Amino acid sequence: MNEADSELAAADFAARGYELTDDLKKADAVVVNTCTVRQQAENRALSQLGRLEGWKAARPGRKLFVIGCAAERLGFGTLRHKFPFIDGVIGAKALDGLSEELDKHLPPAGDGTGPTAGGETAPASIFSSPLSAYVTVMRGCSLKCTYCIVPSVRGPAAFLPEEEVLQQVRRRVDSGAREIVLLGQTVNAWREGERRFEDLLDSISSVPGVLRLRFMSPHPLYFTPAWLRAYAENPAIARHLHLPVQSGSDRILKAMRRGYTAAEYLGTLAKIRKADPDTVFSTDFIVGYPGETAADFEKTLDLVRAGRFGFAFCFKYSPRPGAPAKDAPDLSSPCGDITDREMRDRLARLLEEVKITGRDIFTERIGRIEEVLVESARRGKTSSNFNCRLDRECAPGALVRVEVTGAGKTELSGKVLP
Ligand code: SAH
Ligand code: SF4
Repeated sequence: MNEADSELAAADFAARGYELTDDLKKADAVVVNTCTVRQQAENRALSQLGRLEGWKAARPGRKLFVIGCAAERLGFGTLRHKFPFIDGVIGAKALDGLSEELDKHLPPAGDGTGPTAGGETAPASIFSSPLSAYVTVMRGCSLKCTYCIVPSVRGPAAFLPEEEVLQQVRRRVDSGAREIVLLGQTVNAWREGERRFEDLLDSISSVPGVLRLRFMSPHPLYFTPAWLRAYAENPAIARHLHLPVQSGSDRILKAMRRGYTAAEYLGTLAKIRKADPDTVFSTDFIVGYPGETAADFEKTLDLVRAGRFGFAFCFKYSPRPGAPAKDAPDLSSPCGDITDREMRDRLARLLEEVKITGRDIFTERIGRIEEVLVESARRGKTSSNFNCRLDRECAPGALVRVEVTGAGKTELSGKVLP
């Protein structure tokens, strides 16, 4: 989501005739997009800001902007107090205001009459392949998972109207995108009047030029029988789903207010696998939620074995100001009842378990026929989200059928079928 917001910010600059550069020395402006979902992410953003002091001082006229969730949480006052050289702060709820902020601080690049100066520019795909484009379909979140700061910094859920989403999709396809990645905190909860998420997927995949659709992150509570039917019938929907579970212990899931039990979560995976047995899942876990016992943690390991994930992001619990769990009684020490050492041990064991099943899922692709979206002459990505090396050159942007012949360390290799 932050990557998508960074692309929107880049488009605001492009509309003023500015270009992106990887070279800090050349930059006239820097935008630091901050995350606050865990304290470590926020710390990283703040130390990045600290490092920019010298850059800012080296040439007069340079501008430094801070956007995103830590900007929202800390606000202009706190950030300017810590880093007096910052020019502008635009919190996650007010990203639409970036353009106005830039007007205050930046002259148009060049003589201001360039082809894009003053106009509108579609966001470029900066973070993934140019063939893949993020499209935000909802902002904020209205669930109340107790560990989570997102609703407080991004606000309640708001769904973008279908027409607006389709307009964005068409613009991205016109600039070369073939894969669309829909974004939202509970993306599959999308609705507008009678229209539901599966209707949105169908209308996007019928836009000429859209070859593949991904979305992130769906929430286990919002998979309906109608969605499952659409998934089974619409091959444009990628066969990889990132479905965060957080824990395998019902006690912890309840304390987190996730709204499902481990068995219900696994039941959802089973239903999706029934709609397409080839689906690859990935997930998120939090270890060391306040009160998590060794027995709770064992249940998480059981869930890894039963769920069979291609990969998983595993996080140590991080208490967040503004998240409901911050006020839970057992949060007197920074990590509740669990020592930091135990937390690290659990994280290491979890990562090990995830690696074992992940490797199995990866090597099981050998012998299968996969649909690959070609990204460069000899490389592409399978619908199940694995990188794949091709045995012959293909046109970037094409969908080809590939027989998987090998599984290396990080990518598959395959034979392109006629
Ligand atoms: N909306 C998504 C998750 C968004 S946050 C969902 O509910 O599925 C991305 C991930 O960060 C979460 O899935 C969770 O694993 C992790 N996370 C969020 N808050 C956290 C915290 N306080 N400590 C540790 N991990 C956290
Ligand atoms: Fe919303 Fe829960 Fe996801 Fe946080 S973890 S964004 S509260 S669904």
